[in-house]
Amino acid sequence: MSEVETTKMITGTCHCGRVRLHLPETSAGIVACHCGDCQKLHGNFFAMLIAEQAAVRWEGDEHVVWYRSSPENERGFCQHCGSRIAKRPLAGSRIMVAAGLFDRALPHKVKKNLWLEGKPGWYEAPRVGTITPEDFVALALAEPITSPSAEYGYALRAVSGNPRPPGVIALTWIAAKDANERERIRAHSRQNVQDFVAEPGFISIITGFTGLRGFTVTAWEDEAAMGRALSKHHAVAMRELFGEHFVASVWTSVWTPTRINRIWVRCLSCGALEDLSDDHRACGKCQAPMPPRPAFW
Ligand SMILES: [Zn+2]
Ligand SMILES: [Zn+2]
Ligand SMILES: [Zn+2]
Repeated sequence: MSEVETTKMITGTCHCGRVRLHLPETSAGIVACHCGDCQKLHGNFFAMLIAEQAAVRWEGDEHVVWYRSSPENERGFCQHCGSRIAKRPLAGSRIMVAAGLFDRALPHKVKKNLWLEGKPGWYEAPRVGTITPEDFVALALAEPITSPSAEYGYALRAVSGNPRPPGVIALTWIAAKDANERERIRAHSRQNVQDFVAEPGFISIITGFTGLRGFTVTAWEDEAAMGRALSKHHAVAMRELFGEHFVASVWTSVWTPTRINRIWVRCLSCGALEDLSDDHRACGKCQAPMPPRPAFW
């Protein structure tokens, strides 16, 4: 059974009812975009839910006219009633659907404002409450924010509890050619991380994606521990990478430390910044017990 059939769906309609869309209730958002394009096309900001196009079921989509609103995007409206339906990138797997099409009891709140710097002065942006880590990741994946010099994405840290300082650090990046390939890379990394956590010489990994570029920063006690962990699922992924048409580019490296500095931790009683590298348990200034030493990585 496909995901579309097992996921709880919500239904939106245009004003005249000819166009109906069914989206997974778990779609990301609501995101409010205040950019100039959305101002012109919606009369004010565009409140959207973001879903994978493959997960959306359409009825009456023959009534939708698509207008090329920018070199990268097109926007659809109902040719009978004019309701704004959705925005979709020409290259990409996502679709942004107008939140106004759905029932007033839609179980979503505005979670993010985009392009606030382009907002007109005659309204205030919707207030955004605290956001859960799960929503943050879902939004980062659904609508990565880019500027000429920066690209946001998401990262996750997986830890072993190993308190020892790293003997080697592996830095890598890998570039997917499209969103499908990115999902394939993510599936591999989930398995790799399971192998890593099972290796006693593993310390921790920070891994994530900005756009189509994935990265890892992995700390190991020594190169032998890294070698043991990489001989498991990682070796399978490498065979796919070199044996098939899989990934656009990739770089890996292994680093050894030039210098490892102390770990400084604030005393909760007197506020002194204490050197906790050697795992002592009492504050040198006030003798209060110190919190446990954080891991080096
Ligand atoms: Zn309509
Ligand atoms: Zn916009
Ligand atoms: Zn103290």
